[in-house]
Amino acid sequence: FDDDVDATIRRLDRETVDRIAAGEVITRPARVVGELLDNALDAGATSIEVGVDGDGTDRIRVADDGCGMGRADARLAVERHATSKLAPDGDPVGVETLGFRGEALAAIAEAGTLELCTADGDTIGTRVTVAADGEVSTADAGRGRGTTVTVTDLFASRPARLASLSAPRVEFAHISRLVADYALANPHVAFRLVHDGSRTLSTSGTGRTDALFGVYDRETASQSTTFDATVDIDPVTVDLSGVLVYPSISRSTRDHIRLAVNGRPVRAPDLAAAVRAGYGRLLPDGRQPIAVVSVDIPPDRIDPNVHPAKREVGLRDGDRIAEAVERAVADALTGADLRRKAETAT
Ligand code: ADP
Ligand code: MG
Repeated sequence: FDDDVDATIRRLDRETVDRIAAGEVITRPARVVGELLDNALDAGATSIEVGVDGDGTDRIRVADDGCGMGRADARLAVERHATSKLAPDGDPVGVETLGFRGEALAAIAEAGTLELCTADGDTIGTRVTVAADGEVSTADAGRGRGTTVTVTDLFASRPARLASLSAPRVEFAHISRLVADYALANPHVAFRLVHDGSRTLSTSGTGRTDALFGVYDRETASQSTTFDATVDIDPVTVDLSGVLVYPSISRSTRDHIRLAVNGRPVRAPDLAAAVRAGYGRLLPDGRQPIAVVSVDIPPDRIDPNVHPAKREVGLRDGDRIAEAVERAVADALTGADLRRKAETAT
């Protein structure tokens, strides 16, 4: 039978399905930066530099000093559904439940032109280039251990996507915000952001207070306290940690409450509300704190079904975690000598 020819509904071929899926995830230049930062962190980088030209569609480059890849892995890395991040049972490991699985580099390569230059420190380095037509080529590259991914001409073949982007200033602001979120969530990694050749952000990788200094300024860093708490949320243990800026400095929006789960910046309105609640009456109505709160939690407590592009996260026992966050923030601020700090601020 060949009834299909009369039907109106058509099956999409595999390539089209892939393109649509990739298009959903790589929606704007900041998404590329986020995926490349996830990979650099997964590779154990201690230093990461992000370079951006214009709004990011011209060029995004992320260079790390992580474990790098040998030749065979470098070639596989750009293939869809190729991942090194599998648990012994063959399931994708927890940290990647916040991202998507073995698809990021392939999706980015479909949305733009991708070059990966990598070395594992033992063998000669490899440069893998995926051209606009999907053609993959490989060459030797001399370099130290680590990986540099360069993406150029993002969305050049997708005029609709390109047209949907905001003004370059706004697209770069998304990138800048994201790099700051990552830097604050990973205070032991040094981050640098270079835009059109000028350094716009830099952290030293020497702890939370220094990260605050790098993202904000000396004054903000000096008016802050770090905290750590371990709480039992039966049946698991959750680690809460972060840095809280004293209420002598505040903002009018919640944008400066930064949250991370297992080292990845996330949007979690309930947790942000819990942080604000922890400040209680220390802040006047309508004022919001500058605060970074990290939640470290066994990966199976994270709901993997939340769409990765939204950077939202669902946590099992979210209410109890929010309560614990509120208490940890309130305790940390009670322990701090706020009055003296407020005085030295003026
Ligand atoms: P995923 O991160 O979900 O595995 P990706 O497409 O982002 O999928 O990456 C594919 C694979 O390429 C990773 O599993 C990893 O082995 C390798 N890889 C990607 N980026 C890096 C990097 N910066 N350093 C080392 N290995 C990397
Ligand atoms: Mg990845």
